[in-house]
Amino acid sequence: MSGMNRRIYGKVILTGKIKAVTGLHIGAQKEVSEIGGIDNPVIKNPVTGLPYIPGSSLKGKMRGLLEILTNTRLEKGEINLPYEPGYCTVKEIKDKKCRRFFNKAVGKVVIHVCNDHNTAINCPVCRLFGASGNSNFPSGLIVRDAELTKEWENRWRDGEQITEAKTEVAIDRVTSAANPRTNERVVAGAEFHFEIIYNVEDLTQWEDDLRNLLTAMKLLEDSYLGGSGSRGYGKVEFTIESITFRPLGYYTGEEGERVLLKMPTKVEGVRESFDEVFKIEGG
Ligand SMILES: [Zn+2]
Ligand SMILES: [Zn+2]
Repeated sequence: MSGMNRRIYGKVILTGKIKAVTGLHIGAQKEVSEIGGIDNPVIKNPVTGLPYIPGSSLKGKMRGLLEILTNTRLEKGEINLPYEPGYCTVKEIKDKKCRRFFNKAVGKVVIHVCNDHNTAINCPVCRLFGASGNSNFPSGLIVRDAELTKEWENRWRDGEQITEAKTEVAIDRVTSAANPRTNERVVAGAEFHFEIIYNVEDLTQWEDDLRNLLTAMKLLEDSYLGGSGSRGYGKVEFTIESITFRPLGYYTGEEGERVLLKMPTKVEGVRESFDEVFKIEGG
């Protein structure tokens, strides 16, 4: 892609815990019955056999929530993007006659993707989460897989159950027949360790990007992660335990990292003290 001139000024690394406040079901890719009676197993680390939260699930859900917020702000005239708010039809997308925000068909779902670099660089969603396709705009965020915390891994070693089987009955609307299925889900209370890395590539945008990240995390807490959200599954809560800035000099060995936050803090707490926490200019 021409016009690409990538720089990096440093990285902001957020770590902490994600707690499953209610049972959590992130399905394995192949939903095969492995253990007797369970129709829908949760995804597990193939090495440890323990459930985890794939970084792609976390990132995808946060992206989707930020897309809806951005579309709404576009509608209210609070932001300026070369899109009209709303959804294009699949036909409009095929005919390339679509200027609305949700503009890319993925199967039956329409999502948002900026198609050129100059649009993507001004788009709160694509700048943070990237845009595949024509613009190939790289994501500013890396979201690692969130593994069970050591504490919960130890509980599991001591024989505590980390997942449970929960039977849900779906009623067929046509035949009224009950169709019970057994979901495996991570028990309420279980905690995972997350790591999110933000690449500081533009000194005028990092602040907006980090605020948008916190917004997406907060939106996720009041939404759900994984399946069966309408049945109450998947409420999660973040505790940010550390935020660290690593300037370029950290990587070349000339400078140390700067710890910006070392006390466990909720997302809204970090937002409230944003300006004190993120004093990273002049590096
Ligand atoms: Zn599933
Ligand atoms: Zn975009």
